[in-house]
Amino acid sequence: MFQDIPDSVDIEFDPLPANGGDSVLCFDGRSVLVRIDENRAVLPKLCELVSGIKTVFAFKADGIRFFLCLEKACAQGFEFQPLNRIRHVEPDTAQYAVVTGFHYYCFHMENKFCSVCGAKLEHDGAKRCMVCTGCGNEVYPKIAPAVILGIIDRETDSILLTRYADREYKKYALVAGFVEMGESAEAAAKREAMEETGLEITDIEYFASQPWGFAQNLLVGYFAQVKGSREIKMDTQELSEAVWVKREDVPAQPGGISLTGEMMWAFKSSQR
Ligand SMILES: [Zn+2]
Repeated sequence: MFQDIPDSVDIEFDPLPANGGDSVLCFDGRSVLVRIDENRAVLPKLCELVSGIKTVFAFKADGIRFFLCLEKACAQGFEFQPLNRIRHVEPDTAQYAVVTGFHYYCFHMENKFCSVCGAKLEHDGAKRCMVCTGCGNEVYPKIAPAVILGIIDRETDSILLTRYADREYKKYALVAGFVEMGESAEAAAKREAMEETGLEITDIEYFASQPWGFAQNLLVGYFAQVKGSREIKMDTQELSEAVWVKREDVPAQPGGISLTGEMMWAFKSSQR
């Protein structure tokens, strides 16, 4: 899965400043500065950017230190590409870095001033945290938990697949949604199943989790069995399609990077 692309990820904050050989993540809205080489994303090194650009440590993956660029930058031979393009490059450490780096970029874009007193926020320097220059309030990156749910009907040996109504992502997906406050992930799974498809579920079983920086999520995957009526009452605001698909007809392959793809493959290949 996505988080398994790099052999190693070290998320611990490294306070040492960037040097010329470190990789830099420069975002501009939903675009990132890269070069696409044989369908692989290549990120610029600090020495390839105009000098004096402000950066902050993001994380380390496969021994490479990645820094987030805090101002707009350019580099010879690199151009801003939409994040959606990065979704479709060969999975490698650079792809992981862009998706996870975008999460950190959103954190910096959304936290310039203190939401308690309105004073300026500054990076702590010793940890991944913004500190208020007025009241000392500390702000950490926000991670939104969301559930992905494979609803199985044992009687017909089928799984429920969906398509989103109005998202860039047009392929088959699974029932999914955010965990609300005061709710467990399992309760969110039950609620989302009912809201999106009108189905009651039982035997909810944890499968795996996956960070997904493009939406600042932690995705938590579950399988569950449908209980009672199999009749789908689709939420047309959220979905354009919701169908029972037989095990052999599930459009999935092994080795995908997404939790949804992994779960669809797990069902197709009879692991569930
Ligand atoms: Zn403050």
